[in-house]
Amino acid sequence: PAGGAMSAAREALRRVFGFDDFKPGQDDVVEAVLAGADVLAVMPTGGGKSLCYQLPAVVRGGLTVVVSPLIALMRDQVSQLATMGVAAGCVNSHNPPGENRRVGRAARDGALRLLYAAPERLAQPETAAFLKRCGVDRLAIDEAHCVSQWGHDFRPEYLQLRELRAALGGPQTIAFTATADAATRDDIEARLFDAPPRRFVMGFDRPNLRLAMAAKNGADGQIARFVAAREGESGIVYCGTRRRAEELAAALRGAGRDAVAYHAGLPDGERAAAQDRFLREDGVVAVATVAFGMGIDKPDVRFVCHADMPENIESWYQEIGRAGRDGLPADTLTLYGVGDMARRRGHIRESGDDDRIRVATHRFDALVALCEARVCRRRTLLAYFGEASEPCGNCDLCIDGVATVDGTEDARKAMSAVARTGQRFATGHLIALLRGERAGRIVEYGHDRLPTFGVGKDRSAKYWRAVFRQLYAAGCLDMDIVRFGRWRLTEAGRRVLRGAERFEMRADVLDRGRDGRRTPKPPPPPTAPADEPLLGALKARRRALAEAQGVPAYVVFADRTLIEMAGRKPRSRAEMAELHGVGEKKLERYAAPFLETIAAHAA
Ligand code: ADP
Ligand code: MG
Ligand code: ZN
Repeated sequence: PAGGAMSAAREALRRVFGFDDFKPGQDDVVEAVLAGADVLAVMPTGGGKSLCYQLPAVVRGGLTVVVSPLIALMRDQVSQLATMGVAAGCVNSHNPPGENRRVGRAARDGALRLLYAAPERLAQPETAAFLKRCGVDRLAIDEAHCVSQWGHDFRPEYLQLRELRAALGGPQTIAFTATADAATRDDIEARLFDAPPRRFVMGFDRPNLRLAMAAKNGADGQIARFVAAREGESGIVYCGTRRRAEELAAALRGAGRDAVAYHAGLPDGERAAAQDRFLREDGVVAVATVAFGMGIDKPDVRFVCHADMPENIESWYQEIGRAGRDGLPADTLTLYGVGDMARRRGHIRESGDDDRIRVATHRFDALVALCEARVCRRRTLLAYFGEASEPCGNCDLCIDGVATVDGTEDARKAMSAVARTGQRFATGHLIALLRGERAGRIVEYGHDRLPTFGVGKDRSAKYWRAVFRQLYAAGCLDMDIVRFGRWRLTEAGRRVLRGAERFEMRADVLDRGRDGRRTPKPPPPPTAPADEPLLGALKARRRALAEAQGVPAYVVFADRTLIEMAGRKPRSRAEMAELHGVGEKKLERYAAPFLETIAAHAA
């Protein structure tokens, strides 16, 4: 019975692995695996996926074949298992002579619980034939998103796993991945399984990761300052190109940091040495292309920076996910800029067939929207993965806030264009419609006769693109990623469209000079002891205002704004307007009450 199997599993968890309890979600997955079900489990990085196939292998016995894309990782797991007394082996092309044969013999003799193999080896017919003779009880597929052509780690050999499975007589199959949006999840299911597996999707949130994004503004300096503020900590700086990785590593070394470059263009020995130093020594910064890090389970990576914009939300989340696996606070900083956007879009256009280009484009747009989000980044991020959440208090937008302007009118224009065209069009067409251009298929659809035609003539296409991204970031519009990037109105969007709610937009991303370029203000000076009482009074005022409006305090003003306010004690609206996070709209609403508090305090 399942209950008996689970108590055996708990016993082995303690005895073999030395863990007191399951991590969240592990117990459900292990229970399903022990019950013989096919499983697709989506668990965050560091969530403990390996245990979900290792523990059943220990409890149930038999032979579990583990597919994993990374040889170094397989070796690590095999040696860890060896230290726990679990018989495991790995076959790959890098093994010392005789090792593959020895492992093969052990598998055939029934002496192995887990056999790790790279997908390219499993794709060979003789391997399948051999495994069939051994008798495989379970097929565990790690990093299962590698099967999806939409993912960032696509490995063609993963596509052959389904044939392997059939050749083995259809053993129980359990697949694991860390980041997968709904589209990738469906793709994994369709490509690996014949019938829908039991799905487990754990929460994606990694609350210990601080999320921050900033427009590039002297990017090298931004990275250098970020890294310098984290002396003695180990971290990863991801770069868009090999050359940039080398240059940044050299710059950081010049500034006295222990930094190593890592990219696919380095000689094997040098690359391995760099990875080794990063793993073994304290305080090493790896400056790397995305070739670095898959399967690295160093628990105490304290920060991950992106010196250039990542490919999409999934790859970004996987990359920053390498920080803070130990659950302690870890920092991230992602830089973005128009140059990055152009480069990424260029790569996407060259990426092959139309389907692939289409999906990659929408994925990238979602990342751009996250960069430009105006409320809690984690909330936007989790919404992308289909999870609802509250403002997190641990991202740059929750902590620092952002200046906004009233964008209700333009938001309504954009959404009315979506509504009047039956929610069947993507950004380009809608912008042509708003700007009154008889371009593309506007005339063919008769869209030049809609009342919305030309209502947005006075603004640039770039401006409208930013409006769509902001609406998307705020959850007013939803994008159909797979179907042409069509926009659809959400309930929140309809409220704004009806005029029942206002819509605020980030001031810094709208057409003010160059797109997406904001000058980050320096951090506020710490509050002087003499200003503490005023700060307290300002916070009390903020609380009262927030309560009266039924919004969280940070929506009124971020902490940072109040700290600056207490230090600089503005006495006029103009002085107030200079503070961090005080946009037009907030000035109008809040200048008076806060000026009053400041005046009362001075008296
Ligand atoms: P994932 O593959 O999901 O990123 P891993 O399988 O590498 O995560 O596990 C991450 C870390 O968590 C490892 O150091 C592992 O030993 C540890 N771990 C796994 N399960 C447990 C548990 N139940 N209790 C404590 N630590 C665990
Ligand atoms: Mg793993
Ligand atoms: Zn937040």
